[in-house]
Amino acid sequence: MPELPEVESVRRQLAPELAGRRVASVWWDPHPEQRFSDVALLEGRRVEDVTRRGKYLVCPLDEDLELVLHLGMTGSFSFGPPDPYARARFGLDDGRELVFRDPRRFGRVSVVEAGDYAAIPTLAALGPEPLSDDFDVDAFAAALRRSNAPVKAALLGQRLVAGVGNIYADEALWRTRIHPTSRRVGRDRARVLHAAIREVLTEAIEREGTTFRDYQMVNGESGRNAPFLSAYGQEGMPCPRCGTAMRKTVVAQRGTTYCPRCQRP
Ligand SMILES: [Zn+2]
Repeated sequence: MPELPEVESVRRQLAPELAGRRVASVWWDPHPEQRFSDVALLEGRRVEDVTRRGKYLVCPLDEDLELVLHLGMTGSFSFGPPDPYARARFGLDDGRELVFRDPRRFGRVSVVEAGDYAAIPTLAALGPEPLSDDFDVDAFAAALRRSNAPVKAALLGQRLVAGVGNIYADEALWRTRIHPTSRRVGRDRARVLHAAIREVLTEAIEREGTTFRDYQMVNGESGRNAPFLSAYGQEGMPCPRCGTAMRKTVVAQRGTTYCPRCQRP
């Protein structure tokens, strides 16, 4: 599933294409499982910008509306040719057509009143942006202390910090030698984890995200971060720090890879 660095990479390609453009026509797939709402309101609207909150793309529109997009598990945007998995098509005033492709239909397209996320509770409840000043180290440490969940589950919950998913949680925990099921992360380790979260996300954004199936930027390419992963997906491989075989377990229903020697419970 695309996480903050992948969504940010998509945003950086989408923003110059959409900002200032008017949406001349909209088509969307009426499939009942589609997580789309009020898409018709998009017609005739001008896209002011493409911003991001966590794993959401938030596009301010004229008339005080916002277009909220989520890639779900398999969503991508392109100006490409017709596609059997196209779930929405946005005709722009310059004659081009932006296609939202999403084979598994977990993606979201919603038009809302600007800032009104009542219909999108996961967006409304999102924690601070990790790369902004809002991500306060003391508040993060205090929230981790209060949380009784395994630290990886707390990170995936999106309330302590927005945008971190399975890949970057595994990476940040490996870097800080914190066991993913640990429920006691003290102040000092929380500080180190706070810094590591920023590091792994910043590095991945510089490499335009981690390549995996179905992740695709607007230009059709995927990221270059995969060869730099130390933990995620590395089960059975030697730990890059100590050489011990990396082990896989399940935390919060998600596959979780860690070093049994560096990351003691
Ligand atoms: Zn190790």
